[in-house]
Amino acid sequence: MLRGGAGILSGMKRRGLALHWQILIALALAVIAGRLSGTSGATLGVRWYAVYDFLGTLFLNGLKMLIVPLIASSIIVGVSGIGGEGGLGRLGLRTLVYYIVTSLLAVLTGLGLVNLVRPGIIGGQPARNVIGLTGSVQAVAAHVHGRGMADVVGIFLRMVPTNVVKAASDNRAMLAAIFFSLLFGSFMATIAEPGRSTLQAFWQGVLDVMMRITDLVMRFAPIGVFGLVAKVMASTGFGAFVPLASFFAVVLAGLTIHMFVTLPAILWAVARIKHPWRQHRAMAPALLMAFSTSSSSATLPVTMECTEKRAGVSPRVTSFVLPLGATVNMDGTALYECVAAMFLAQAYGLHMSFGTQFSVVLMALLTSIGVAGVPSASLVAIAIILSAVGLPLEAIGLILVVDRLLDMARTAVNVFSDSCGAVTVARLEGEQGILEEDPRTRELS
Ligand code: ASP
Repeated sequence: MLRGGAGILSGMKRRGLALHWQILIALALAVIAGRLSGTSGATLGVRWYAVYDFLGTLFLNGLKMLIVPLIASSIIVGVSGIGGEGGLGRLGLRTLVYYIVTSLLAVLTGLGLVNLVRPGIIGGQPARNVIGLTGSVQAVAAHVHGRGMADVVGIFLRMVPTNVVKAASDNRAMLAAIFFSLLFGSFMATIAEPGRSTLQAFWQGVLDVMMRITDLVMRFAPIGVFGLVAKVMASTGFGAFVPLASFFAVVLAGLTIHMFVTLPAILWAVARIKHPWRQHRAMAPALLMAFSTSSSSATLPVTMECTEKRAGVSPRVTSFVLPLGATVNMDGTALYECVAAMFLAQAYGLHMSFGTQFSVVLMALLTSIGVAGVPSASLVAIAIILSAVGLPLEAIGLILVVDRLLDMARTAVNVFSDSCGAVTVARLEGEQGILEEDPRTRELS
């Protein structure tokens, strides 16, 4: 599996510059171009902003087009291939425990920092009085209107699709598609021959084709990344962050601790990986892709390719842990939700008792499972938490300006945690040879 998928990463290397360097250069150029042109800069009547938008959207569409068939085929192939003797149950349980423990650690890191720094209090005053709300509040309020505690239950209700075809046609309903694929894969393994091997060959074929198409889409990654990031830079810039600097810094610090301390510690202590930093190197292309697209789902093809080819995890584990993780395991998002809700409570001068903070932690954990792997998806989850603790939804307006950049950072952490999950579960399943070589020296095909 994924054999065809090794092509682009190695191909890029053979032709000279490795893919992640190409993407990094594209990122740097995008920052410069976006800042120079702004939203109105034009040459010969063509607005640069429209060009960025076109390039970025085209690339993102290409990635999104892969999500449904990739998730379905990899989960079905993964689950049906895990086999009997309690294999699926054991693998599933380990994966689930990893997801819950790491998400909880992430939320607690965020909670600790936000209580320590108190970014919602500026100069001794609740930040709301100092900053004021941004203009586009109404749009958000309309988007998230009517959310409440019942939505947490709703997440689990929506997990069972009433119509499989409808679920598969909506990138935001991935949890339902995953649920059905899990069922399909596990029962596919139990039917009689020749049906079983015919179906197995079919889904394996679909997966191989999807990875080939991933290769094609990834050829355009540097151009797509340029478009996506230049667009953000042109419209948002850095200036708007100044009043929210400490909120921004708290989220970034939390994400950094999780990515560079907590997760490597798990890799070292639980997965017994001697050189955890190699995981960052192995995942570099996927991390840059997550950063540029702000979408774990869109990054999934690259995450799978890197985890398998550069970190050395077996297809058996990657095709189960990663597609599931892209929707279910979101450490960065959980951390962000908790920090954002606490920040807004501080900014509105709301006292948060221990009990309320505990419920914020719980809701951040639960909603991060239901949040779709698409840009800004956590805003809806934050709305759910806000209504539960009794804050007005307009409060979200305060964090809107910084949401986009923080989305890029938290998505990278989401993807990195998924990949660490694959490594950890694979090691617990007794796999050898993971991250034994420096990924930079590793030939990919
Ligand atoms: N953009 C995030 C992701 O795809 C979700 C979120 O936190 O908004 O992982």
